[in-house]
Amino acid sequence: MSSHSIPVIKNEHPKLPTFNMDEVAFGKHFTDHMLTADYENGEWNNVVIKPYSPIELDPSSAVLHYGQTIFEGIKAFKNEKGEVAIFRPDQNFIRFNTSAERMQMPAIPEWIFMEGMQQLVQLEKGWIPSKPDCSLYIRPFMIATDPFLGVRPSQTYKFMIILGPSGAYFSAPMKIYIEQHYTRATPGGVGFAKNGGNYGASLYPVTLAQQKGYDQVLWTDAIEHKYVEEVGMMNVMFVIDGKVITPSTERGTVLKGVTRASSIILLREMGYEVEERNLAVSEIVDAHKKGLLQEVFGVGTAAVVSYISKLAHGEYEMNFDLDVQKVGPALKKHLNDIRMGNIADKHGWLLYI
Ligand SMILES: *Cc1c(COP(=O)(O)O)cnc(C)c1O
Repeated sequence: MSSHSIPVIKNEHPKLPTFNMDEVAFGKHFTDHMLTADYENGEWNNVVIKPYSPIELDPSSAVLHYGQTIFEGIKAFKNEKGEVAIFRPDQNFIRFNTSAERMQMPAIPEWIFMEGMQQLVQLEKGWIPSKPDCSLYIRPFMIATDPFLGVRPSQTYKFMIILGPSGAYFSAPMKIYIEQHYTRATPGGVGFAKNGGNYGASLYPVTLAQQKGYDQVLWTDAIEHKYVEEVGMMNVMFVIDGKVITPSTERGTVLKGVTRASSIILLREMGYEVEERNLAVSEIVDAHKKGLLQEVFGVGTAAVVSYISKLAHGEYEMNFDLDVQKVGPALKKHLNDIRMGNIADKHGWLLYI
């Protein structure tokens, strides 16, 4: 399996034996070990798996001031036979280094990301709940650590992978507000990169939408607020008259989700026509008026498919009866069945460890 053996410092006080797996909530609990690596003098060193613990940072560390920080989100699953598989981590590896380049951070070597992840998940596989829809969330990230307040790319970095058990992710159908003022991403900007600042910048408009009674916003293009882009931190898909339409990633303002790419392949195999193109809000509203707008849902690693029950454009409200929806639920089942090994993984998307 691995050609590099990463040293492991065992946690002498693991929480796993007494951890109550029934209590798992996304993002709150972390496993007993983590991987860390340091970048200095142009190379990555000190690759080690060690007890999960706080890290020490100089208060002047670049990441704390100018936001050179990127991350990924991946899931590992345990099937009924007890086998553990990670879903398409090679795609996250590629995207991580795409994000790194945009933020002027060094690329992470494949073996540290891929073999490091596999060795860490192997060590922590006892943390993966074996119940349906449960998983182990894998969070690789990189931060700039130069103790220097000048604005320039840091010369030192830390790469880490932490893991957390994740329960069956139930998200209530969302009420969505179509954003017409604030923006998530601009052409020429950093929307295609999974860098921290994108998420900090989204909090204010989302809070405003929540004060109006919505759960999330549907982001529109920064220039005209005419075309839809993403829903919250997920890619978005519309079903209009039986056809699936999802915004194109060409302008660099839509993050290239692994779930999005996988969904397009599966939906086509399931017999749906899928279009990747610019989709105007006016086209969505027109389709709704004609009774042709059937479904809207978000796609992403966390929830796979997140249903939308209401979409509002100003005063105009579009409501969806989730009981009659077909595409979203069928896609969710198909992807979950692949991830849990219930149906053949004919694309080789699962990396068994
Ligand atoms: C991570 C993310 C997604 C979903 O990507 P997946 O690889 O499917 O998890 C979509 N949009 C944004 C803005 C994201 O950060």
